[in-house]
Amino acid sequence: MQDTKTHNTYQHNLYPDERGRFGDFGGKFVPENLMAVLAELETAYKEAMQDKAFIGELNQELASYVGRPTTLHYVPRFSEMVGNNVKIYLKREDLAHTGAHKINNALGQGMLAKRMGKQRIIAETGAGQHGVATATVCAKLGLDCIIYMGEVDIQRQSLNVFRMKLLGAEVRSVDSGTKTLKDAINEAIRDWVTNVETTFYLFGTAAGPAPYPRIVRDFQAVIGREARQQIMQQEGRLPDQIYACVGGGSNAIGIFYPFADASEVELIGVEAGGTSMDPGMHASTLVAGRPGVLHGAMSYLLQNEDGQILDTHSISAGLDYPGVGPEHSYMKDSGRASYVTASDATALKGLEALSRTEGIIPALESAHAIGYVLEQGQQGKLAEGSLIVINLSGRGDKDMMTVAKAFNVNL
Ligand SMILES: *Cc1c(COP(=O)(O)O)cnc(C)c1O
Repeated sequence: MQDTKTHNTYQHNLYPDERGRFGDFGGKFVPENLMAVLAELETAYKEAMQDKAFIGELNQELASYVGRPTTLHYVPRFSEMVGNNVKIYLKREDLAHTGAHKINNALGQGMLAKRMGKQRIIAETGAGQHGVATATVCAKLGLDCIIYMGEVDIQRQSLNVFRMKLLGAEVRSVDSGTKTLKDAINEAIRDWVTNVETTFYLFGTAAGPAPYPRIVRDFQAVIGREARQQIMQQEGRLPDQIYACVGGGSNAIGIFYPFADASEVELIGVEAGGTSMDPGMHASTLVAGRPGVLHGAMSYLLQNEDGQILDTHSISAGLDYPGVGPEHSYMKDSGRASYVTASDATALKGLEALSRTEGIIPALESAHAIGYVLEQGQQGKLAEGSLIVINLSGRGDKDMMTVAKAFNVNL
């Protein structure tokens, strides 16, 4: 296959290095007492990955509990709407149990916690989606589950709070700072430091201190491994472009990573452009941020001149995060992936278009990637006959109240 792109070589399988770094990014910027816990986690993770019985059990659960492989689904009517004879496939993570990709990671880490003999699971959640995935896995595996959630998010996401409780989790309200996701993460880290002996911190995205970005990537890479096999079976060649929305970066790195060594495949991450690119009005960390340290890792960040974290806004709660996983920062700076932004309005347009042309209501997060591709196509910016894969990270059921409000419909 011919290499037509001019990307720098992404050193596949080399990252993270032994210090947990992806180039200049990543690492472990944590208090001393957490260093030992992170080292314990890293050792346990590496042992588990070499244990054929563990891998076999994980694969079995991914098949029968999660419903993998999810399909790689051709969408002809949407493709036609995008225009210029492009052919678009969706990787259907919306079909996974609980309706999104988050379960892949929650299941993997939950099984790892059990293997390590940790009975108490803590997690942070913003929109509640990671909380629900974690509570789901804890119920299945018989583990105690405590979810930290900002007070503001608890009010905004009452349905997910109810789901978590129904699944047997305790939801702890965090009323520090902006009372949202980043404060919930701080509180979960505090709990972890205090209860390290018994407790496993089940982190929700490909960010945080090493080894989390790598662990989450590996558990989500099942998306890209399947997609690569499926596109070869269905089209006999690799795609020209892969698009995924980027919040913390887990669904995107999950589909990007298994294609990273194929330099002819263009990887494009779509961030939340919110209502404008003014500070505080969006969550486009890689597009508009600069490197700094947040939640234990060096990565791009939305920060002001003093290094204070900026507020973020997105119509999709799952993309509303001022940081991003370090591997994406590395992929951006190395040129292996590129990152763009899609506004709230573009996401809504994408959601409506996919619903009407294909009978698939995407999550608002995924709708950023859908809407971006649609607009690029309509502006004539996609090459004639391109083969495109979009990661459909989740289904839209959870977003119906938000979408109705945006369309001025009273439910
Ligand atoms: C949480 C979530 C995201 C954003 O998280 P990433 O770690 O960036 O993948 C995207 N899509 C859906 C459906 C989500 O629930």
